[in-house]
Amino acid sequence: MRAMVLEAPGQPLVERELPEPEPASGQLALRVRACGVCRTDLHVVDGELREPKLPLVPGHQVVGVTPDGRRLGVPWLGWACGECRYCLRGRENLCDLARFTGYTLDGGYAEWLVADERFCLEVPAAYEHGHAAPLLCAGLIGYRALRLAGDGERLGLYGFGSSAHIVAQVARWQGRRVFAFTRPGDEESRAFARQLGAEWAGGSDEPPPEELDAAILFAPAGELVPAALRVLAKGGIVVAAGIHMSDVPAFPYELLWGERAVRSVANLTRADGREFLELAPRVPVRTEVETLPLWQANEALDRLRSGRVRGSLVLVP
Ligand SMILES: [Zn+2]
Ligand SMILES: [Zn+2]
Repeated sequence: MRAMVLEAPGQPLVERELPEPEPASGQLALRVRACGVCRTDLHVVDGELREPKLPLVPGHQVVGVTPDGRRLGVPWLGWACGECRYCLRGRENLCDLARFTGYTLDGGYAEWLVADERFCLEVPAAYEHGHAAPLLCAGLIGYRALRLAGDGERLGLYGFGSSAHIVAQVARWQGRRVFAFTRPGDEESRAFARQLGAEWAGGSDEPPPEELDAAILFAPAGELVPAALRVLAKGGIVVAAGIHMSDVPAFPYELLWGERAVRSVANLTRADGREFLELAPRVPVRTEVETLPLWQANEALDRLRSGRVRGSLVLVP
């Protein structure tokens, strides 16, 4: 099978002919129909996440079909131990032994992959392969971040990419008000955010027209933590949704005072996945997708790195 392979962090992916992976007991073989490109893939390829499997097939927003015709999604959480203090308390996202698709397990930048059947998710029938792919990480990690942001009405989204374009739709459907923060000068993303229901869109260096109750940071820039705290009302919460972020600069305690909080969101549980994939067609969430052939994975990653993406990029073998 053809695959795009990471041989060393910091190097472009290389196209390789690999043997089709053999499913072990409890695993399924899936023919990949679409695989979304996530910012986490970029952190893996750029070496910002340590100790990936090498060589590695990246990609963890995989829509695949089994030889007997079942369509399933393969998300980031590929395996958890089921026995540790986290797993036993419904927090398998924090399992120390967890394995991750496209990081410590081979992922979906390939024609085939194998996945543990217990960690595969049902893909809602209403979505074609390409439009379903971004639901599997951008959507469901975004949804977990939204849940952990509490029930505040005025929600700020920092970085209006793949995740935010989905979360904005869910937040509007829940009756929240959405405020979108983009890179300074990025008019295109602001127009996109307004189209998806944001009532205000501006630069991350601009104050919104009123205080916010919660902010979700999708952009991996540590300086956004104090910037977001600065625009929160008392009791507000900042959720960092990315797996990697540059250092958070020191800030005065006054910004945190008033019961403001900062927290991160790590990975997903299968329960998050099922809940979000059941919800998405009811909203209905519409994913804005641009598909590229699998062999253009490096171009896709470059575009994500420089922010030249509207919605989500999806690779199709
Ligand atoms: Zn565990
Ligand atoms: Zn992801």
